[in-house]
Amino acid sequence: MMFKIPVENIIERIKQEKGLSDTEINQMIEKKIEQLSGLVSREGAAHIVANELGVKLFEPVEGRIQIKNVLVGMRKVEVAGKVLQLGTVREFETPDGKQGKVGSLMIGDESDVIRVVLWGSIADKLNEISEGDLIKIENGYVRERNGRKEIHLSDKGNIIINPSDIEIGEVKLPTPEQKKIIELNEGDLNVEIVGTIIQVFDPTFYEVCPVCGKRIKKVEENEGEGFKCNKHGLFKEPSFAYVLNIFVDDGSDIIRCVLFRENATALIGEDVMSYKDGSFDDVKMRLIGTQVKLRGRVVKNLLFDRLEFIVNEVEKKDLSTAEESIAEEEKVE
Ligand SMILES: [Zn+2]
Repeated sequence: MMFKIPVENIIERIKQEKGLSDTEINQMIEKKIEQLSGLVSREGAAHIVANELGVKLFEPVEGRIQIKNVLVGMRKVEVAGKVLQLGTVREFETPDGKQGKVGSLMIGDESDVIRVVLWGSIADKLNEISEGDLIKIENGYVRERNGRKEIHLSDKGNIIINPSDIEIGEVKLPTPEQKKIIELNEGDLNVEIVGTIIQVFDPTFYEVCPVCGKRIKKVEENEGEGFKCNKHGLFKEPSFAYVLNIFVDDGSDIIRCVLFRENATALIGEDVMSYKDGSFDDVKMRLIGTQVKLRGRVVKNLLFDRLEFIVNEVEKKDLSTAEESIAEEEKVE
């Protein structure tokens, strides 16, 4: 079985093993294509060159691999990642008249992100998974669609939700796609918009579990009154988190942007928590008119039937400083 390994990776591997230069390896690949009268692709030729040099391109893997190392054609793949986006389960009729089911989700680890497609009864697992969960996937197979790798799971696959033995650091998102607000679509996962803040709402504070940080609701039970986390039990004194909503205008359209916790704090430049019992008006005045670059994803708010931008990175563009430095440059000239 030959895996689809990008030519650059093959060259890199030969470099490491044999200490040849890029130029030398490329010459060998070109020569091989010529020898075979152009009947072989560049990728195929690179495989042959590696083989002739005795460079093993692929060693059978055991256990979990990083997402960037997932290759088209692999089977029995094991990866773990944070859930970035959840799709819904769709039912369909197979050509032989049976009921089929499919669903998908996006996961990411420190190395890359990948779409995971679930076929058959394992698609029901989507109902048990939340965004932000960590999942481990076992026995997947890798396919290519629209030039992108996807991990597919049949009923022979397995998903473990929030396994206790795995930790994932900061997820490495690919470079975001820059878009105008008018061009945003539901499901856009990693996009960047630049616009001006035209409206700011009071932050909303809500109770969260002091241990895991998930939202908790007030309950009255036999155990007494308090806030309950399904995992960590009842708390008399919950912790608080907050969400800040703003409207951003980029000239093409406006959109409501939702900033949770550290992103809200990054935007206003101080801890939003300190405004829990006070007036937010001064901050609002200061923010309106500020230019911001926001990275995030687009979701549909079904209640209001509109698109919203969930921010996961904020970059403030300090216009006054920019204008000042332009003025200074002019002075110098
Ligand atoms: Zn908890």
